[in-house]
Amino acid sequence: MSDGVDPRRRVPRTDALLAQPRLVAAAANLGRDLVKTAVRQAQDRARRGEITPDEVPDVALAALPSTGPRAVLNATGVVLHTNLGRAALSDAAMVAMTAAAGHTDVELDLSTGRRARRGRDTMAALAAAVPAAEAVHVVNNGAAALVLAATALAADAEIVVSRGELVEIGDGFRLPDLLTSTGARLREVGTTNRTTVADYAAAVGPRTGFVLKVHPSNFRVTGFTSAVPVRRLAALGVPVVADIGSGLLAPDPLLPDEPDAASTLRDGAALVTASGDKLLGGPQAGLLLGTAEMVERLRRHPLARALRVDKLTLAALAGTLGDRATPTRGALHADAAALRERTERLRDALAGDGRKVEVVPSVAVVGGGGAPGVELDSWALSLPERYAAPLRTGDPPVLGRVARGRLLLDLRCVPEHADAGVRAAVLAVPGDD
Ligand SMILES: *Cc1c(COP(=O)(O)O)cnc(C)c1O
Repeated sequence: MSDGVDPRRRVPRTDALLAQPRLVAAAANLGRDLVKTAVRQAQDRARRGEITPDEVPDVALAALPSTGPRAVLNATGVVLHTNLGRAALSDAAMVAMTAAAGHTDVELDLSTGRRARRGRDTMAALAAAVPAAEAVHVVNNGAAALVLAATALAADAEIVVSRGELVEIGDGFRLPDLLTSTGARLREVGTTNRTTVADYAAAVGPRTGFVLKVHPSNFRVTGFTSAVPVRRLAALGVPVVADIGSGLLAPDPLLPDEPDAASTLRDGAALVTASGDKLLGGPQAGLLLGTAEMVERLRRHPLARALRVDKLTLAALAGTLGDRATPTRGALHADAAALRERTERLRDALAGDGRKVEVVPSVAVVGGGGAPGVELDSWALSLPERYAAPLRTGDPPVLGRVARGRLLLDLRCVPEHADAGVRAAVLAVPGDD
């Protein structure tokens, strides 16, 4: 050591360490005793010379049990980022989840003291949001909704589906594999780019379980194409199951190509399946909406029990349906001019801190396998690329997008109250530019 002091004597004191914000936060989550033990062990290692005194806080933190996924700031400009947990929940959903964390009346009717249908309030809220549905059910996710439909309606039968709709959802999961894993057989019709109503009509017969219509939610086919709308499929005389993917309950003018549950049911689908954590902006869930007879068959199937949702999901979904001003909706519909002003304010604040950053136009997207091709005009802070890694591993982690040697931070999906957090995170990166 250049100052000649034995490094072991520079080990920070326990009370000073426990006052550090990161360790205060850890103590709030895990209890002070656990954090104190980790701090003492790290101090001992520093005294033995195994680590430097400066490393004590990091080593103590690293020794603590993880409290699960960490909260991050999504400055990617991707509204529903699958790697970042898709939809951010609304305050109403969070409040509902917290209230449901203890014991709840999830399967009990308090007025009679008898067992009641699980999550009946959530089901009632979903049914009220889509009056075109006679009945509704909720399972673990969109894939589970499809598996339940295929198992209950076509285990020994055929699912008639267009070759243009046999899609890969992501991370290697392919819809055809998911469907055939249930024992159902696929009866593929048409071609990749064109399928006609005559193709479906020729394939429909006594072996048909249902006709499946899948929204190609994460890609677009253009050029010489044709697909058959649900309205025409419904006239074939067999049930139509429509996987609309994104969970829009009603049309959104911003997303004219995204199917919604209400319109699809009015067009004659017997059953609609969708995800809860995409455009609806709720928790991970699989929504099933349809005729009373269809939904009852699914609900009564033994597999339904294996796919049933937790009380926390039911609570979050009810909260989402009760207050539709979700962060997803807010991010999708954010006004570009207002985003520009926010971004410029942050730039000016950072300039006052001695950091030179620029404001540049940005293009945000829906993401999460939804609304491909939809571009949302946005704005971003542009920083040198070297900021990317320290911001990603900082506290809180800030995720941006690297493009042409620059790190872009798009505030569209960052809650406005977190702008100060973005500023602090940028300042925590040593600046020499
Ligand atoms: C996202 C999606 C799925 C899968 O839903 P998960 O909730 O991720 O299981 C299935 N089909 C379509 C059309 C989708 O967009």
